[in-house]
Amino acid sequence: MVTDLISTSDLSKVDPVFGQLSFDNHEQLVFCNDKDTGLRAIIGIHNTTLGPALGGTRMWNYETEWDALNDVLRLSRGMTFKAAITGLNLGGGKAVIIGDAKTQKTPELMKRFGEFVHSLSGRYITAEDVGMETKDMDLVREVTPYVTGISEEKGGAGNPSPITAYGVFMGMKAAAKYAFGSEILEDRTVYVEGIGNVGEALVENLSNEGAKIFISDINQERLDYVSKKYNASIYTGNDLYSEEMDIYAPCALGATINDRTIHQFKAKVIAGGANNQLADEHKHGLLLRDRGIVYAPDFLINAGGIINVYAELENYGRHEIIRKTENIFNTTLEILQNAETNDITAHQAAFDVAQARIDARKKEN
Ligand code: NAD
Repeated sequence: MVTDLISTSDLSKVDPVFGQLSFDNHEQLVFCNDKDTGLRAIIGIHNTTLGPALGGTRMWNYETEWDALNDVLRLSRGMTFKAAITGLNLGGGKAVIIGDAKTQKTPELMKRFGEFVHSLSGRYITAEDVGMETKDMDLVREVTPYVTGISEEKGGAGNPSPITAYGVFMGMKAAAKYAFGSEILEDRTVYVEGIGNVGEALVENLSNEGAKIFISDINQERLDYVSKKYNASIYTGNDLYSEEMDIYAPCALGATINDRTIHQFKAKVIAGGANNQLADEHKHGLLLRDRGIVYAPDFLINAGGIINVYAELENYGRHEIIRKTENIFNTTLEILQNAETNDITAHQAAFDVAQARIDARKKEN
């Protein structure tokens, strides 16, 4: 029994869910467990003021359940503000599945997860995130309509990652224009950390523009493949953050801008696809600003994917997806200028626009 190990008075101090640092008035958390398939997942619904909570499912081998809970809380909150600033009628949600996507993901597990999504009757709509592919969403689609990011053969808009990367590329160009006076990335040194679905597609855009690209990943096979395909240099050092570079593009997991790394950065611009790049939005946002590093807010510039999957719900086509995604350039530039005018961080400026839209909708309801 747990109480044999920890006294109940100690347990009462823990406040495991509502007391979490990352808890931010989330509406609902669903813990999903299925012994037969080995599924252990958490679905987080942060806010549904603007619409049903949409956000991808991440499968990751979390060290502890706390890490998984913390991740789903942070990720689902981020989705609320991403949908809001992008002008979509969606709320914020996300799911995490605890486990190794390479060895523990089975069709049965994905379908069982889909049944849990279905049990929420559309309050939460899923899609891909780290560790997931289009074919996984096709399996979820077999048991619930509350899924996006399904393959084009099955009537979906396909893998959202290339569009996410294109939006990140647009945001990066806007940040470059703000920082360097030109959006042209030719000959700019860009470090892309994490070259999975989004990172690789970003490398492709950068390569087409003639940027000097360095890549890093924990997966050597991916490094060899992407390096060869796009003529990108593999970063072999062990202190990426303190390298001289124009742009740092985080495209792996979140929180790489943290107490340990914040003073190391030599990059002039940070613009990448990863969610929740700032370990502490306020503190690290301020420190970046103080150091004169232009930061393109993650939830603003990585919204291409949600624009792509939203098309499946709203039935708009490729042309509109591209138009909305290209608009990330204008919004990013406006946010950076607005932050300067109001002497606030770029993250805060983006957050304020998103929050204002949510507040206005609340008043209407
Ligand atoms: P992915 O699983 O395809 O790729 C992630 C890559 O990061 C993998 O190659 C992995 O090996 C690498 N990685 C993990 N830890 C690393 C580390 N410590 N250092 C270097 N590399 C590391 O995932 P993805 O779909 O490309 O998503 C990447 C990021 O973008 C995530 O933060 C995700 O939440 C965010 N995002 C993705 C989408 C999308 O459309 N896929 C949309 C918005 C945001």
